Amino acid sequence: GQGFPRPERTRVMVVANQKGGVGKTTTTVNLAASLALHGGRVLVIDLDPQGNASTALGIDHHAEVPSIYDVLVDSKPLSDVVQPVPDVEGLFCAPATIDLAGAEIELVSLVARESRLQRAIEAYEQPLDYILIDCPPSLGLLTVNAMVAGAEVLIPIQCEYYALEGLGQLLRNVDLVRGHLNPKLHVSTILLTMYDGRTRLASQVAEEVRGHFGQEVLRTSIPRSVRISEAPSYGQTVLTYDPSSSGALSYLEAAREIALRGVGVRYDGRQAHALP
Ligand code: ADP
Ligand code: MG
Repeated sequence: GQGFPRPERTRVMVVANQKGGVGKTTTTVNLAASLALHGGRVLVIDLDPQGNASTALGIDHHAEVPSIYDVLVDSKPLSDVVQPVPDVEGLFCAPATIDLAGAEIELVSLVARESRLQRAIEAYEQPLDYILIDCPPSLGLLTVNAMVAGAEVLIPIQCEYYALEGLGQLLRNVDLVRGHLNPKLHVSTILLTMYDGRTRLASQVAEEVRGHFGQEVLRTSIPRSVRISEAPSYGQTVLTYDPSSSGALSYLEAAREIALRGVGVRYDGRQAHALP
């Protein structure tokens, strides 16, 4: 397919929202696949003990598989745990196993407990355009490790009641990490997910989020789509499961917008299609 512009340096994006079920994992894997299918080299780091991102990418993550737990707790090199994603060239995954559930506690007593992921990424020598980190639904040490490792925070917001609830806490955590641990950290991207254009609620939430955040909000929003929710049970992203579905096209468009922003090009809806 037509390539997206590639960033000069690796963009590390932290997909975070301490609420569960807002579309973090879905967004991580589908954006990652979209970017890879358009010429990017992309690594997904699964930082949720549930391992949903690993599952959705068709990556084996039973208890014995070398995983991000070994990287964080035992200082194993990232390159020892990264696996290529079947079917999508240029896409890789560092899987999470159930061990990771204990890491939140085990990390507490380790040196440099907040920066272990950052160090592992710095030591990783394979060239990458993007690293997308799928965070667990909490603001504990795993999420802090992601925020120390990345410069950009991507917040998926579900267009539902109470969409903005809890966001203040997330933003305060971003400020704390920026102030104490990682001066580069900022919220670069907000993505509206599970958008149902037929309901007034969805458009009200969208309006409220746009009023609150302004230009961080991607113009593309992700519709509620059965194809999106079916894909993970086949170990696939919606990009390969049903490439012409509205869900696949919307993630592709959101990825294009992210890629264009990364090289300083304003995304202008359909006009952007004409860009290389
Ligand atoms: P999180 O990682 O924030 O907990 P998930 O990405 O796992 O959220 O999404 C929660 C549930 O919603 C999953 O069952 C997923 O398949 C479903 N889902 C996510 N996005 C969509 C969408 N756009 N349309 C339909 N279902 C979706
Ligand atoms: Mg998840």
